[in-house]
Amino acid sequence: MIIVLTAQADSKSVASALQGLGLWTRALVGAATPVILEVESHSASVSPAVIEAIEGVAEVRQRKSAHPRVDRQAPTFTLTLRHGPALELGDGTTLVAGPCAVESPDQIDETAALVASAGCRLLRGGAFKPRTSPYSFQGEGLQALDWLDAAAEKHGLGVVTEAMSELHVTEVAAVADIVQIGSRNMQNYALLAAVGRTGKVVLLKRARGASVEEWLSAGEHLLVHGAPYVIFCERGIAGANTELRNDLDVGSIALLHHIHGHFVAVDPSHGAGRRDLILPLAQSGAAAGAQMVLVEVHPQPAEARSDGPQALLPEQLRELAKRLGIAPAAVAGNGQPYTSRFPEFYKKSMEQRQQTLASTLGLSAETQRYLQTGGLDMDVADHMTENVISTFALPLSVALNFRVNGRDHVVPMVVEEPSVVAAASNAARMVRATGGFRGDATASVMTAQVQLDGVLGVDGAAETLRQRRDEIIALANQAIPRMVARGGGCVDVDVRVLDRDSGLLVLHLYVDVGDAMGANVVDTVAENVAPAVQRWVGGSVGLRILSNLPLRRLVHIECDVGEEFLGGADLADGIARASRFAEMDPFRASTHNKGILNGIDAVAVALGQDWRAIEAGAHAYAGLGSDYRPLSVWRRTETGLHGSMELPLAIGTVGGSTQAHPGVRAAMELVRIDGARQLAVLMAAAGLASNLAALRALAGEGIQQGHMRLHARKAESAAHVVLTVHKGAA
Ligand code: PEP
Ligand code: MN
Repeated sequence: MIIVLTAQADSKSVASALQGLGLWTRALVGAATPVILEVESHSASVSPAVIEAIEGVAEVRQRKSAHPRVDRQAPTFTLTLRHGPALELGDGTTLVAGPCAVESPDQIDETAALVASAGCRLLRGGAFKPRTSPYSFQGEGLQALDWLDAAAEKHGLGVVTEAMSELHVTEVAAVADIVQIGSRNMQNYALLAAVGRTGKVVLLKRARGASVEEWLSAGEHLLVHGAPYVIFCERGIAGANTELRNDLDVGSIALLHHIHGHFVAVDPSHGAGRRDLILPLAQSGAAAGAQMVLVEVHPQPAEARSDGPQALLPEQLRELAKRLGIAPAAVAGNGQPYTSRFPEFYKKSMEQRQQTLASTLGLSAETQRYLQTGGLDMDVADHMTENVISTFALPLSVALNFRVNGRDHVVPMVVEEPSVVAAASNAARMVRATGGFRGDATASVMTAQVQLDGVLGVDGAAETLRQRRDEIIALANQAIPRMVARGGGCVDVDVRVLDRDSGLLVLHLYVDVGDAMGANVVDTVAENVAPAVQRWVGGSVGLRILSNLPLRRLVHIECDVGEEFLGGADLADGIARASRFAEMDPFRASTHNKGILNGIDAVAVALGQDWRAIEAGAHAYAGLGSDYRPLSVWRRTETGLHGSMELPLAIGTVGGSTQAHPGVRAAMELVRIDGARQLAVLMAAAGLASNLAALRALAGEGIQQGHMRLHARKAESAAHVVLTVHKGAA
């Protein structure tokens, strides 16, 4: 930076004012007046406006940057992934892990599983290896890209892999979410141009002997040729250290991140070359400002075909993830990452599906047995309802691809209607591509009602009850000590005057029922407070029962869908128009809502929930205003569609039929839910997915075409039954 002073300026005092700001300057030789000061390169970074405000400064001139595109890069970036929801780079620390080289299908699959279970979203691994010696392992080449892609898809990970030569750029870019340029190729400008042209995000390793300027200029090459974003990765430079492979330049990380405002990655593996220093170096890189940490890990480092000494052990990767504040992914019963992605599941036989779920999710022996036989024991059935004469079966299916609030869930569904499961799975897959569903649920607060008739002075009576609020709450809680001990209990009351003439007054009791559906709990509460209430205000006690419109037990769900996943802009427009239609017409809204409940009810039945309560609540909520309205709305966005929905959902994960029915226990094991609120969010997601799928079909080819395909399948199996019966008769 050059600072030109005014003719009258006292250059010494200007220089010392600049020094006060951390700017060290020297006067350019030969420029007597006006004095021109050059700022030394190791000075602090100060905005020109601040400098120009100093008395005696006429003008501040910036040197023209050699890398303007790099300078303009934002410090955050949304990285879309081929297998998995988009990733916000710069929002917390991103840990990338994987082997130095992709060695075999099994090795990369095993490594991907451990990388995913540690909570990482990106898998690294080289198909082409730049080795110092031509006698060392050079990588498995093109076939390794296929192995890497399969492992990434199976475990829902993004891929970082190196393009070593222009010859294979297309193949590498086809599987990579981030193309790596290795340290040795940082200044291979022809390669940079070819990789830039693929339009992929690039991770640019710093060359061992490169200055920061050379590194940034290499990034400029990539951006000029079309790369949407360049991640600068520090991986150690040549230094005086003999016990480490390279000298990790943490200062440059701090400079790039804190001064130049870049998103920076650190690779301590190639920096250290030895596994015992990787954890501290990774943390120092992160502390200096790196928001991406790239490490090598191997399930059996001793067997690694390259860079074994620096490969982290699996437990070291988990420790590193923990230290970087990355939450481990949900794990299945077998310790493997829990996933809801099972490509081509529908093409497998029923037995293969059971086996796939059992081995991937580590299902218990009890659940595996149940899946094989299905059904319900006559004794259990006899205790569930009255006048039981037999049992009655329906198919148990799983809807796949669901990701809700960053977690996968296999969604069990029991429904007699074809296409509900397939439709929900398809929609969940589209939504998954843009990050999955996001949602939350209020506390599980149920509403109980106590009816009082013939109350005299009904407004005064209502006021009396309001004043006795604390007493009523205390009375309510006396009735449910176990719920109170679990952190639930009555939290509020409300009084409503429904009819002055007849003195009809209703007391509402709001009870947090935790993970229960709560009908029994609130009925108990209502019955327990009714006598005291009647004593205080007179009249006669009527009903004491829950309301199926629990307005304080709401769930909200939303999602975004890219139009490319939806099947184009026309379909996105069509769905938004369908939403508006439903918003204006109760005749359409009822069908719209039925499409939502297709998904919700199917999950409810599988999980032993009271689906009539859900239906009652949903429709009452839809009709709360002056018109019956759709529970969900869909709006066009720049990139596709945004859907959102809110509804009451009274469901539980404890009590009710959850424990009694073995199918419900199996379904609960499949879905892996932590409590009623999480289940409510997931059920809402199943509803919104079903809704999206139905609207997409209606806005596109129409509902009949898909239906007919599935009906044809059913007809085929019916024909099969007839045939067998005939054969049996013959
Ligand atoms: C690598 O990451 O596999 C690699 C070869 O790194 P570098 O280019 O930094 O040596
Ligand atoms: Mn390596």
